[in-house]
Amino acid sequence: MKTFKEIYLKSENKIAGIAAAPGIVIAEAYLVTKEKLKVSKADITDVKKSRQDLIEALAKSKKELNKIFAFAREKMDDVRAAIFEAQLMILDDPILIENINKRIEEEKKQPEYIVDDEISKYQGKMILSHESYMKERAQDIEDIKQRIIRNLQKKRWESKIQQDVIVVTESLTPADTLVLSRNRVLAFVTDHGGLTSHAAIISRSLNIPAVVGTHNATEQIKDGDKLIIDGFHGYVLLNPTKEQIKFFKKKHEKLVELQKGLEELHDQPAVTKDGKEIKLLANVDVTGEIDLVITSGAEGIGLYRSEQILDETGEFPTEDELEVIYSKLSSRIYPNHITIRAYDIGGDKFRFLDYQEPNPFLGLRGIRLLLENPALFKTQVRAVLRASVNKNIKFMLPMVTTITEVRESKKYINECKRELKKKKIPFDNDIQIGIMVEVPSAALLIKEFAREVDFFSIGTNDLIQYLMAVDRGNDLVSDLYQEFSPVVLRTMKYILNDAAKSGTPVSICGEMAADTLAMPLLIGLGLEELSLSPTTIPYAKRIIRNCEYKRSKELADKCLKLYTEAEIEETIQKFFIDNKITRTRHII
Ligand code: PEP
Ligand code: MG
Repeated sequence: MKTFKEIYLKSENKIAGIAAAPGIVIAEAYLVTKEKLKVSKADITDVKKSRQDLIEALAKSKKELNKIFAFAREKMDDVRAAIFEAQLMILDDPILIENINKRIEEEKKQPEYIVDDEISKYQGKMILSHESYMKERAQDIEDIKQRIIRNLQKKRWESKIQQDVIVVTESLTPADTLVLSRNRVLAFVTDHGGLTSHAAIISRSLNIPAVVGTHNATEQIKDGDKLIIDGFHGYVLLNPTKEQIKFFKKKHEKLVELQKGLEELHDQPAVTKDGKEIKLLANVDVTGEIDLVITSGAEGIGLYRSEQILDETGEFPTEDELEVIYSKLSSRIYPNHITIRAYDIGGDKFRFLDYQEPNPFLGLRGIRLLLENPALFKTQVRAVLRASVNKNIKFMLPMVTTITEVRESKKYINECKRELKKKKIPFDNDIQIGIMVEVPSAALLIKEFAREVDFFSIGTNDLIQYLMAVDRGNDLVSDLYQEFSPVVLRTMKYILNDAAKSGTPVSICGEMAADTLAMPLLIGLGLEELSLSPTTIPYAKRIIRNCEYKRSKELADKCLKLYTEAEIEETIQKFFIDNKITRTRHII
């Protein structure tokens, strides 16, 4: 029998993209090509009429968007629906409208040409920006521009789809995503767009699986081609083989089966059969995910990737702005805790430096960058402290490599505390400070770090990468990115043993915590707190409730003696069979 890798991961009909919204779908492709509107630069004779046409086109665009906005508010939370509110504001921008009107009068050209030219000027500046946020906003503006031009030309965009299909398209604006979702669209595939693109966020809100950023899916896929969408891993299988269809149908059935009864688990504790309690917390990337955290049954937020706000806003928010964001999160999650991680900028995340480092993953990243930029660090620290009055915020430092970095960070934190005290601004003076353990040097020095900090969180994503000296994004060596390597297991055991000597709590917040296959092993190694994506929490809870801690410990002890990843993985697989525990790896 062929393995998962042969059938799927190494198959040649696989188109790789970004997993934007989870789910498995098998259906036919429906290519949506938006007609590129031709813009006429012809001269006009009747300025008054042209201005009237513009008023009407703006009014029609506003009416359409208002309808979409109302539908968005019905379907998703206010933060996400606000995307459309922002688009409506552009339509009402008096300076923009005045400029367009003035140019119609002076240049005596078709209003569609002036609209195109005037709005493109804004866009041009945004597209040139390095930040993905600005690029995404340029896309939103394109949507408005096309809408006004279309209405000036009195054309309609056909968005009605009659049968169940997977929509394949170059890119999706938030409005397209929403409008198309009213049809029988089972999934989305796009050439462009990232995880934080609005279309991706909306797909997640609407529960429509999506794979975005495939670069050229529209060139490879034809109308009516059969596709399999794996929104968990971000792959599309084009004209799948019988074997692949059988494999994914089975996975899909299993998924449906697994989803049954998950909701009932919401209020049940994550406790093993023999009474060991495990705390399941949520990782939060996008601020809007907080609702998902609350419905997932998470007992708090174990990792708030604060740098994500930079992708959402495209700039460094001020201390006051950050304080509002953090305070809201703290109140929403109260009485549970939230661990806010200081900006982990650098590596492949948010660009800060003007130049490209030759080796960014080994460069100025995380706490290294913050200590080089104390003003930036202190702004964030003060905001965290000001938001900590409910006493449910913890603060965590990323990419820590040396004790000196922690001491220096604490020096700045104490400075911030003194500054706030002086101004009589209240904060939690006992706020817990912890570090990510994601660099081998931090793992090896855990006893010493334990004297300096209140808690540890193991970041397996980076820890594995740095332990194995492998870039996980590099296909040539991805086989070496082994979460079940004996090295990874033994390093984790080492961290847990040494932290236990001083009673310093250790949690895990890397992707490994969301791998359901790893669950019994992690518990067996002694981890009592796992932080994972909120959608995986119910699955994790079910596995834990079907596990015996005693047996998990035996499993971990056995695995710690093995030499290769394959042996370890096989042993864990056997554990699931022997103990009759159903699971799906990474959900599928
Ligand atoms: C990690 O490295 O495991 C981690 C959780 O941090 P990030 O994925 O944000 O680098
Ligand atoms: Mg990391």
